[in-house]
Amino acid sequence: MSADEYTPASEIAGQLSRVRSRIRAACERSGRREAEVSLIAVSKLKPFADIAEAGAAGVEDFGENYVQELTGKIAENAALPDPLRIRWHMIGHLQKNKVKYLIGRTALIHSVDSVPLAAQIEKEAAKQDRTERILLEVNVAGEESKWGFSPASVRQAAREVLPFPHVRVLGLMTSAPLTDDPETNRPYFRALASLARELAAEGLLAPEDSLFRVPVLSMGMTGDFEVAVEEGATMVRVGTAIFGKREPQNGGTKK
Ligand SMILES: *Cc1c(COP(=O)(O)O)cnc(C)c1O
Repeated sequence: MSADEYTPASEIAGQLSRVRSRIRAACERSGRREAEVSLIAVSKLKPFADIAEAGAAGVEDFGENYVQELTGKIAENAALPDPLRIRWHMIGHLQKNKVKYLIGRTALIHSVDSVPLAAQIEKEAAKQDRTERILLEVNVAGEESKWGFSPASVRQAAREVLPFPHVRVLGLMTSAPLTDDPETNRPYFRALASLARELAAEGLLAPEDSLFRVPVLSMGMTGDFEVAVEEGATMVRVGTAIFGKREPQNGGTKK
């Protein structure tokens, strides 16, 4: 790790407050209330100490990409004398054989990218007599390297998942293309927002939820979260701008 990749824990609080003010400004520009947007701090590949630091600065929602890392951090938190109150978000590609380890552990699974995966969640949740909150992941730009439903197929997927009694679809999630110019992602965010409104109007999403404002629109990362907020994001998933750069590793793409 080079010196400029290392983020001292004490810097996390400062970076968080800068991210929060950028969210606030984006809300002001677009006539939204700040309370409509939840910040999910993406802590993948970062040590639990960083989560503790962000937790001390008021973050309650953390996003993780890998099941084993997520369950490890849940255990680390539980072992504390005074565990942090955390809502864990699974945001990375999920394999069906890992679903059983996640049931009952997360507040929301953002990355449901196939009907068979949703069916597996239904099956495992039913076994444990639980209901899982999920989002359907949409590959908004049709990128070869990304998981997710095409915008054209997500409505049919929502219809198929709707009858599952142990799965509640709260909304949609996307990872827009990596770009130097976030404006190029604005049309994708706008399209996802209107798709979510349509699905909600058609009764294909949960009409209400005790934990999250519905419909959930999970979109916007370090490179583009302000544009996502302007286009209606209710959750932004920000890692690098809070915790600093990660060691290069496949972060949820197909290859
Ligand atoms: C890693 C990751 C993020 C956070 O990305 P940053 O660019 O570091 O903010 C958000 N969403 C998903 C799905 C990710 O894999």
